[in-house]
Amino acid sequence: MSASTNADWFARRTAAVARGIGHTTGVFTERAENSELWDIEGKRYIDFAGGIAVLNTGHRHPKVMAAVQAQMERFTHTCFQVTLYDSYVELCERLNAIVPISGPVKSALYSTGAEATENAIKIARAATGRAGIIAFTGAFHGRTIVAMNMTGKVAPYKKGFGPAPAEMYHVPFPVPQFGVTAEDSLKHLRFLFKADIDPARVAAIIIEPVQGEGGFHMAPPELMTGLRRVCDEHGIVLVADEVQTGFGRTGKMFAMEHYDVEPDLICVAKSLAGGFPLSGVIGRAAIMDASEPGGLGGTYAGNPLACAAALAVLDVFAEEKLVERANALGVRLKARLEIMARSNTLLPIAGIRGPGAMIAFDIVKERGTDEPDAEATKRVVARATSLGLILLSCGVNANTIRILTPLTAPDPIVDEGLDLLEAALQA
Ligand code: PMP
Repeated sequence: MSASTNADWFARRTAAVARGIGHTTGVFTERAENSELWDIEGKRYIDFAGGIAVLNTGHRHPKVMAAVQAQMERFTHTCFQVTLYDSYVELCERLNAIVPISGPVKSALYSTGAEATENAIKIARAATGRAGIIAFTGAFHGRTIVAMNMTGKVAPYKKGFGPAPAEMYHVPFPVPQFGVTAEDSLKHLRFLFKADIDPARVAAIIIEPVQGEGGFHMAPPELMTGLRRVCDEHGIVLVADEVQTGFGRTGKMFAMEHYDVEPDLICVAKSLAGGFPLSGVIGRAAIMDASEPGGLGGTYAGNPLACAAALAVLDVFAEEKLVERANALGVRLKARLEIMARSNTLLPIAGIRGPGAMIAFDIVKERGTDEPDAEATKRVVARATSLGLILLSCGVNANTIRILTPLTAPDPIVDEGLDLLEAALQA
């Protein structure tokens, strides 16, 4: 059977692919370049999704393409545990040098974000000899069994996939819109230590400095400081999940640079390798070295093509000053969203937020309230697609629109995307 339209292919997708894989759009991609994408029907889109925060350096950055092509001429896979390669080591050296962790630092590479968060937990357990894990409500750490259970949202991520592993707990994440403060979170943590788990049995506390899927809520500095204090007091490993915040998105290379405390481990993935599957755990050498040889790794972990891409991504960040660009882009996006928030002809939006270019806002039922409108949000995303804008929603109430456009997107394309967003928001 031949197929040439998005609808034809979607019918084939429905017949051939498991239902459990969801879709934001029904768009089948033909090609993509920097911050634009074309579908198989020839329609052009502006990409405000970046493949879910993967493309901070844009689709097919020429330097990334050239590095991968050069690597492809040498070899594409050996498995780092069989015969080693320079790019894996060089990438670890460069990551170790730039993470906001002082003292000796080491890294281990993987392929997906979930592998990074799972392995951070393995490493923390090996280092502490403890099992307990504390995460936050609204968090997203991946879809594999442990990562899924660290994720602080039941539907759709955990539905039907039980039981949860033992000794895993959630503490409320501070969100002003939900009336939860950093002090509430820390109080809940103290209750947890009294009611459910001895802190001496906790291996790790894992936190996204800015919750991604949870709605682009930034952890207040007093929460991070409080967590660091608790971790120091009880010998708990503090894990920062920077899978979505990493690589310049928040206006710093790592979101943890916004705080004056350091984590022990950092999980990275997504924009690390500009569109190639690569992730890693980077952290204090003494903790990273706790696992026995053979305990960490994976057949494809730290794939050579992806390592070559990541080294090029780091060069592009420096050459094109993408961290500075993230801040300028964020200012541009926020200024325009503030104007949209005041318009009476658009759906009511609220809570424009986010550091750097990690920008989001909520669609609410009535201007001046926080009452979520998930249905309207769904309609806006669908309308954006038909207008030619790839847009993502998120948030525990499914009423948040997040903007993850490549940091390399030229201003005229960003402005065109914002025009389409405004059109999609017409009341
Ligand atoms: N952690 C965070 C903060 C994420 O945003 C994601 C993906 N959205 C993951 C982990 C999981 O990454 P992956 O889908 O590559 O497993």
